[in-house]
Amino acid sequence: MIVGEPLDLCPCESGVAASTCCRGDDGSYWKRPVRFEQLPSTGFQHPRCYARVLGDCSTQLSREHLVPKAILKQFGNLLIRGLPGAREGSAVGVGPNALAARVLCRAHNSALSEIDSQGTRFFQTLDSFRRRALHPSDRDLALFSGPDVERFILKCGIAFCASGLLGFKTANERLPWVPPSYWVQLLFGRADWKPGCGLSLWGGAGHRFEQRRSVLLEPMAAHGVDGVAGLRLAPHGMDFVLAVDRVLSVEGADLPPLAYRPGSIAFNKRLEIMLTWLPGGLVHAFNVNVRPL
Ligand SMILES: [Zn+2]
Ligand SMILES: [Zn+2]
Repeated sequence: MIVGEPLDLCPCESGVAASTCCRGDDGSYWKRPVRFEQLPSTGFQHPRCYARVLGDCSTQLSREHLVPKAILKQFGNLLIRGLPGAREGSAVGVGPNALAARVLCRAHNSALSEIDSQGTRFFQTLDSFRRRALHPSDRDLALFSGPDVERFILKCGIAFCASGLLGFKTANERLPWVPPSYWVQLLFGRADWKPGCGLSLWGGAGHRFEQRRSVLLEPMAAHGVDGVAGLRLAPHGMDFVLAVDRVLSVEGADLPPLAYRPGSIAFNKRLEIMLTWLPGGLVHAFNVNVRPL
């Protein structure tokens, strides 16, 4: 069970009492995923909105950051592997101002705004671990839903692809890769994850993570998949792998993933990350190795 000091306000930062939010009768914490929003029917498909396959676009596009600005501010540059023209295997640093694009209509963008806030809060908490603190620091516990984090990483990946920033080599040319409709349907709750796919967390020996101030984004290829099969997002040397079209593994990893599709994720002041798969269920906890700054 995920437990912490009894708190008045819920550690999911909803602003309401824990007992009416994520704390169960047994005192354990579990965060339900953000609901998929139903959009009003418009019968319109904006030609530049990547979610147009779903219909119900609005007529205006929204300009958005491919990764929320709050995250970029904390992590500094984003390192991206697989950019067109970059040397094989090398990561290119991209500053916050280069990372905005108009890739979604306003209606589809606003349907994902709660996923954006959950993802931002998650990565801010990860970054605050580097400073040996929790975000916000007066809390004993910070609580997240695994499926929210999974959707957030999927959203960032699709946005990068749709913006044309990520390119993929096919034969002797580099062709921009367009997100397949299956990815979009996953993001908006119109499709289910394939068996073995979804988010997994990879760790090193002893499950202790290096603390580097960077976040790496890398599109991942798989045999038999044209273009991108999934994404790797590595903040501070932690490895989140999102397998979309094929089960994926981290290159060079000699151990299986540390965790696969956790239901709830919590961070506490002892710098432990706790994962659980069912409300009140068993917890897998591990420490984060924090180097002095
Ligand atoms: Zn809550
Ligand atoms: Zn749209």
